[in-house]
Amino acid sequence: MTPGRDDRDSAADVVVIGAGNAGLSAALAARAAGAAVVVLEAAEQESYGSDSYFSGGLFRVAYDSLHEIERIVGPMGLDGAAGVDDFAAYTEADFLSDWGRVTGYRTDPELSALIVEQSQDALRWLASIGVPFRSPIVVDGSGRARHSRPGWHGGFIEAAAAGPGLTDALLRLADKTGARICYGRTAVALDPAPDGHGWTVQCRATENGTTPFPAKSVVIASGGFQADAEWRTRVLGPGWDLAKVRGSRHNTGAGIKAALAVGAASHGNWSGCHAVAWSVGSGDAGRRDANHVFERESYPFGVTVNSGGRRFIDEGSDFGAYTYARYGREILAQPGQTAWQLFDAKASDLQTSEYRYKNPEAARVTGATLAELAGRLAGRGVDAGQLVATVAEFNGAVAPAVPFSPYVRDGCRTTGLAIDKTNWAVALDTPPFEAYEVTCGITFTFGGLKVDTAARVLDVAGNPVPRLYACGEAVGGLHYFNYASGTGLTSGTVLGRIAGRGAAA
Ligand SMILES: Cc1cc2nc3c(=O)[nH]c(=O)nc-3n(C[C@H](O)[C@H](O)[C@H](O)COP(=O)(O)OP(=O)(O)OC[C@H]3O[C@@H](n4cnc5c(N)ncnc54)[C@H](O)[C@@H]3O)c2cc1C
Repeated sequence: MTPGRDDRDSAADVVVIGAGNAGLSAALAARAAGAAVVVLEAAEQESYGSDSYFSGGLFRVAYDSLHEIERIVGPMGLDGAAGVDDFAAYTEADFLSDWGRVTGYRTDPELSALIVEQSQDALRWLASIGVPFRSPIVVDGSGRARHSRPGWHGGFIEAAAAGPGLTDALLRLADKTGARICYGRTAVALDPAPDGHGWTVQCRATENGTTPFPAKSVVIASGGFQADAEWRTRVLGPGWDLAKVRGSRHNTGAGIKAALAVGAASHGNWSGCHAVAWSVGSGDAGRRDANHVFERESYPFGVTVNSGGRRFIDEGSDFGAYTYARYGREILAQPGQTAWQLFDAKASDLQTSEYRYKNPEAARVTGATLAELAGRLAGRGVDAGQLVATVAEFNGAVAPAVPFSPYVRDGCRTTGLAIDKTNWAVALDTPPFEAYEVTCGITFTFGGLKVDTAARVLDVAGNPVPRLYACGEAVGGLHYFNYASGTGLTSGTVLGRIAGRGAAA
């Protein structure tokens, strides 16, 4: 970008801060309502990488019949497959119940109800304007319909080509509809307009100091604060500086800070975040060349131990879709902030495709016997003797009578262990054996701004801060302790569209 060139004539009706799924949804909705829109994006165009870009592109959606899903993704090809009934419906009540359950019923009831109610309509809107979607339901080798990630649960639609496909489509649409995207522009402050009718967004440009962007309304869509190691540690607690950031390096909470400085209320689970098991071989933030390689979500079909060779989680406490976002915290609490996911050959068909990459960063160790695997892990700092003892004790505690099924919470469990595995527990006894080293990958933070159902930012008295909207990760109050997979993108689209329409009005 030529210094200053694209910043000339920068006045807009609506300035959106952040070009992720939420911000671009807001920009498209505001353009459709006739507003002149500028989107400020901290990343340079060549290195653009919002969390939405790095995401799997999975949206959680409520539906009453597969016909409704097929209207968005086209024919699903499930005729004759077994197990289709498991996917026949995922009602608004199901979605709300899962969301409430995983958040200890602390999620903002009005916002979560709104997002659930509008989930399908918002996706139909994206599809209608040209975002391509597909179904993540596949038919496996046994002729049974299942989610492409075994053990995932809920109603989903997936952006074709995942996060990159989603954001490419949204950026292309923004460009086509005349929303102006200014890359390399980091919003740092909001100054109220002297007449009280709008804002000037003060923006740090990569090359040329600070640039003011005047706007009648502003939408904050600049993500959470997970990429700021200092703020993360102050708020989430000791050790969080050592987590790896899975997505954007730019989501440092600048938009949240700017809004708090003009009277916005902070809201939600500030000590909570979405954090997963993530390969130790990853970079410190999202990598455009290889990010998905580092996902490690198949732990329900194996055993996880720390470097002391001991288990510390119930790997099968629920479908992975409802546990993965909280197990990163458990791994961070282990010695060295790492753990090893152990599998035997029986699990190989159940592992997600990310486990198949054989690149050096995969942090994978194999053994023809458990003793051989343990011996190799000893060279990586693991207590091999304890690991072998842990697996022997685990194998001996598996209840033999219950049939294993990856499609349901099968109740196939251990009994009598200090930490039992309560579903999908089968003995680790079939060579070859493999182990993957994982650490804590933080996805996004749960604390943020308080908004109402019109996506208006509220002050501490509960009044709207005039002409200020927020959506996406910047919003607090949606997630507490844990998270139901696919809710981030859905909430970003629903609240983004509402924010864009409101800001344009
Ligand atoms: C690896 C990974 C996989 C995921 N998979 C899924 C999934 O399959 N389904 C799902 O629902 N969720 C998923 N998530 C979570 C999901 O990506 C987020 O919840 C969602 O994308 C957030 O959208 P957003 O627009 O709020 O933030 P983002 O998409 O991160 O967009 C924020 C943008 O703001 C920019 N920005 C930041 N600060 C400033 C500033 N001061 N000025 C200007 N610009 C700024 C950033 O550069 C960024 O481009 C995943 C996340 C990751 C990291």
